[in-house]
Amino acid sequence: MSIDEHFLSGKLLSSLSTFAIGGPARYYFEARQISHAKEALEWARQKSIPVFVLGRGSNSLFDDRGFDGLVLHNRIDFCEFSESSVYVGAGYNFSLLGVQTARRGFSGLEFASGIPGSVGGAVFMNAGANLRETCEPLSEVLYLDESGEERVFEKKDLVFSYRTSPFQKRRGCILAARFELEEKEGARKSQLEIVDYRMKTQPYKEKSVGCIFRNPSAKSSAGALIEKCGLKGATCGGAQVSTLHANFIINAEQASSSDVLALIEKIQETVAKESGVHLETEVRKVDFS
Ligand SMILES: Cc1cc2nc3c(=O)[nH]c(=O)nc-3n(C[C@H](O)[C@H](O)[C@H](O)COP(=O)(O)OP(=O)(O)OC[C@H]3O[C@@H](n4cnc5c(N)ncnc54)[C@H](O)[C@@H]3O)c2cc1C
Repeated sequence: MSIDEHFLSGKLLSSLSTFAIGGPARYYFEARQISHAKEALEWARQKSIPVFVLGRGSNSLFDDRGFDGLVLHNRIDFCEFSESSVYVGAGYNFSLLGVQTARRGFSGLEFASGIPGSVGGAVFMNAGANLRETCEPLSEVLYLDESGEERVFEKKDLVFSYRTSPFQKRRGCILAARFELEEKEGARKSQLEIVDYRMKTQPYKEKSVGCIFRNPSAKSSAGALIEKCGLKGATCGGAQVSTLHANFIINAEQASSSDVLALIEKIQETVAKESGVHLETEVRKVDFS
């Protein structure tokens, strides 16, 4: 069967983002195997169509007009345990991985439980919580670069920092990742405590993309700065600053991407005026073209 038959047109991106915002994708393709991702990237390259690689859409703000290119949805979700190492497809549920590894008595990914992204998204964003980051237990990444070449990157070849990975400067697709964990009594208990704390302090039942802004420094939290300005509950159209956690914007009432962008600007201006700090966004804004 030709690959062209597997592309959909007009898939609504709002259905693929935890924000529930976004218009149609010009082309949409679901890659369940590495070979599918390769074929789709090659197809787009030959036709000079821009590509957006999507994981679980929990850190992406799509445009109301959608995306004028190919949304390559990474659903490669194998998971292979071998002693203290786990090799997982980039589309695997990162939160579930945190639960499963802790249940097996392994430590290193407890912080992942409750982060509603994919493994690929977590590596791309260097997602983190509870003073831990994805790059710490990571040992290697299987990557498909723009030209269609598969490459294995070992951690020593990669430089990560706070919510930043070298993949943010590349245009390919993370296919799989390997994590090295440590057997530890109490891993499951810490993982359960992490989830419990998250549920109490973050608006999990609302539509959001987690923290909208990066913390300005290790000592200063964006949420505290926003709260200090009295912005909890502030709205722009259907977008609202969460009353539970000031660094979350929620889609309270059919918010559009412009509502969210207007609220982001309002927060940035207010915080800059009152504390002199410029807040940078953590959410990935996906422009129409
Ligand atoms: C309720 C809630 C709580 C959250 N808590 C946290 C938290 O504690 N810590 C934290 O760090 N984040 C948190 N987040 C944000 C989000 O879950 C993470 O950033 C997560 O890692 C994003 O993964 P994703 O697969 O959903 O990424 P997506 O939104 O699908 O994509 C995000 C970016 O990654 C790129 N990408 C995704 N997959 C691939 C791939 N296979 N290859 C190449 N590029 C790829 C995309 O192109 C995009 O630029 C939270 C979000 C929500 C909704």
